[in-house]
Amino acid sequence: MYDVIVIGAGVTGCAVARELSRYKANVCVLEKCEDVCEGTSKANSAIVHAGFDAAQGSLMAKLNVRGNEMMDKLCEDLDIPFKRNGSMVVCIHKEALEGLKDLYDRGVANGVKDMKILSREEALEMEPNLSDNVQGALYAPTGGIICPFKLTIAMAENANMNGVEFRFNTKVEDITKNDDGTWKIRTNNGEYLTRYIVNAAGVYADKIHNMVSEKKAHIIERRGDYCLLDKEAGTHVTHTIFPQPTKLGKGVLVSPTVHGNLIVGPTAVDIEDKEGTNTTAEGIADLQAKANDHVKNLPLRKVITSFAGLRAHLEQHDFVIEEVADAPCFIDCLGIESPGLSSSPAIGEMVGNMLKEKMNLENKDNWISKRKDILDPSKLSIEERNELIKKNPAYGNIICRCESISEGEILDAIHRPLGARSLDGVKRRTRAGMGRCQAGFCSPRTMEILNRELGLSYEEITKSGGRSNIVLERTKNQKGEQA
Ligand SMILES: Cc1cc2nc3c(=O)[nH]c(=O)nc-3n(C[C@H](O)[C@H](O)[C@H](O)COP(=O)(O)OP(=O)(O)OC[C@H]3O[C@@H](n4cnc5c(N)ncnc54)[C@H](O)[C@@H]3O)c2cc1C
Repeated sequence: MYDVIVIGAGVTGCAVARELSRYKANVCVLEKCEDVCEGTSKANSAIVHAGFDAAQGSLMAKLNVRGNEMMDKLCEDLDIPFKRNGSMVVCIHKEALEGLKDLYDRGVANGVKDMKILSREEALEMEPNLSDNVQGALYAPTGGIICPFKLTIAMAENANMNGVEFRFNTKVEDITKNDDGTWKIRTNNGEYLTRYIVNAAGVYADKIHNMVSEKKAHIIERRGDYCLLDKEAGTHVTHTIFPQPTKLGKGVLVSPTVHGNLIVGPTAVDIEDKEGTNTTAEGIADLQAKANDHVKNLPLRKVITSFAGLRAHLEQHDFVIEEVADAPCFIDCLGIESPGLSSSPAIGEMVGNMLKEKMNLENKDNWISKRKDILDPSKLSIEERNELIKKNPAYGNIICRCESISEGEILDAIHRPLGARSLDGVKRRTRAGMGRCQAGFCSPRTMEILNRELGLSYEEITKSGGRSNIVLERTKNQKGEQA
């Protein structure tokens, strides 16, 4: 019997798990995929929003601003990159300038600090590659950029170090109430008993909610396509450049990433398909045209990959984080669309506090708040790096040439808590395969390491779990003869 089961190991579930790991409680996270960060948390703009966009008085606004405030300390504790590069909302039509003032006022009401409305000249001085049509901009210095994989993985690892269990490849199929008020969760991997449930299942959170409540929820999947550009284009802008928002959202942004690439996107198309993460030619063309409206000379020939993510949109466009009225001891995190990544530390804190109070949870004496990231040799001096390679030659064996990732880093990714078991697991933890060739060269070498270290046969190694196998069978025997 667990005290709390969290359903879903995205950024929401992992933030909740980390907060709960502070307390004396048996906590378990159930995740249908083979790793953390396999849902929307892996496919978004990676912006820590300042908080001027969400409606005044909404839970979204409150948690966005609080999450933004918490980010510096959290990222320091978890040893992950976070940069406050500042956001600019750019106005390109004179008649829309009033809209910047509305956003500014909303930001002030939401508690966003230090914003400023910039003239055309001030905006161009800060960002010379803005469109020639720029009329003015709203500048929010508290906006930032983060690595969504590292944030999610680090919170999960830290929760795990503090005793939270994670069960992967475990899909929740049904939930029923026992006579004693506890919950029985049926999964493809057996049954689980728990006193409390936290529903953090992203675009599937309506399905999970509807298993326990008569008041049905409906999530609309709102797809966003992206292009990611090579690091050579990474300094085309230094701030996150937004257009003015519309009723479909914050619009197509252009931003540096925390790892030095340039990201362009997303589109916003309602699709009603929980697995519809394919990009479309129209979507990519649309986002490129829209990005060009606000930023000039975008080097779109430097696109290295495209991808799409699904927003978990609710009609009322606000987060719903509450105990379900007709299902006591079941906590929903519904409608966690953007700014869900920015808000995640605050969502974790809110759910943690709710459960602490409801369950009379006591703090652990030995809670570990910090965790070390994978050692990055590129941050060392040349002398320190040589010393490291002398001690451990695996750090001198470069596996991913585009991103300069060594075997030592991949071994660390595999053998740390909740370690990588697939190519994408290695990629998200180390960046091996994230570069210009998009894993063309390093995949076979990473597979050799996974084979050797985890005892997985080549046929068992996947790109990202499930049926994403890379090698299906041998076509030649060891001597090279046809099998
Ligand atoms: C296009 C786009 C751009 C965005 N940009 C930003 C941004 O710049 N900044 C920002 O703050 N936010 C942004 N967001 C929002 C942010 O990405 C999400 O709010 C956040 O990632 C949601 O995290 P989650 O953990 O709730 O969901 P997910 O990451 O989807 O995690 C849910 C998990 O639940 C699991 N699951 C589902 N069903 C079951 C089941 N039956 N059993 C077990 N496990 C299950 C899934 O496999 C998944 O791992 C963006 C979103 C999109 C789509």
